[in-house]
Amino acid sequence: MSSASVPDQPSRSVLVTGGNRGIGLAIARSLAAAGHRVTVTHRSGPAPDGLTGVPCDVTDAASVDAAFKQVEADQGPVEVLVSNAGITDDGLLLRMSEDSFDKVVDANLTGAYRVAKRASSGMLRKRWGRMIFIGSVVGLTGGAGQANYGASKAGLVGFARAVARELGSRNITANVIAPGFVDTEMTQVLSDERRAQIVGQVPLGRYAQPQEVAAAVAFLASDAAGYITGAVLPVDGGLGMGH
Ligand code: NDP
Repeated sequence: MSSASVPDQPSRSVLVTGGNRGIGLAIARSLAAAGHRVTVTHRSGPAPDGLTGVPCDVTDAASVDAAFKQVEADQGPVEVLVSNAGITDDGLLLRMSEDSFDKVVDANLTGAYRVAKRASSGMLRKRWGRMIFIGSVVGLTGGAGQANYGASKAGLVGFARAVARELGSRNITANVIAPGFVDTEMTQVLSDERRAQIVGQVPLGRYAQPQEVAAAVAFLASDAAGYITGAVLPVDGGLGMGH
């Protein structure tokens, strides 16, 4: 083998769901800065400055299909899918309505299924693909008041591993990133007391910045990660160690 330097990474067609803010936006900006062709989905707000956006609600298969058609026309079939869109609707089990449970699973888990299924046909044709699902440490450790959210994020692990086995022979990888607590609007709703409690349990003693999750996504999307599939990569400051 020669000692020549690693060739430049090819520019990939990337779709990041829920990329208009928070972790998704940091992921999209980092992949765009690395030279990829990136589109983000946006739902309630406008597309972020400087990035291409496509309206999409991942709970609606027709909306997902329309978004993919637009991305395919603009930048080619999706080669790197980052399934990031997600919600919380916390509450204690005794008081958690079936509607709340269904709503969270529909957005976080069934939404991931909808986008992965739609992305898979193009990846199969190309015999190359990267699916990266944004899970959570809560899917591994559990979290009081988060039965719906924890179930949806744990489900992503089984889902990604099934996809990894099914599509591995076509050079398509499927991995989960499991962030701990990240400083975004999702966690800004927590009380100062709860935030201090969480930080006290994190070996690194702080929240993650969205860019730290984006760095893990950039690695899994890169050619260097070509032999990694079915993995759960924690970005949690050590919070979930051992799970
Ligand atoms: P935010 O609440 O800041 O952003 C969530 C994003 O998901 C928004 O872009 C939102 O769009 C989008 N979204 C939600 N529901 C849908 C839907 N039905 N269709 C399309 N888009 C949707 O969250 P974060 O950035 O913090 O979280 C991103 C991901 O990371 C989530 O999956 C979350 O579970 C996960 N995560 C977050 C952690 C944290 O501490 N923040 C820790 C571990 C995991 P809109 O603007 O329209 O609402």
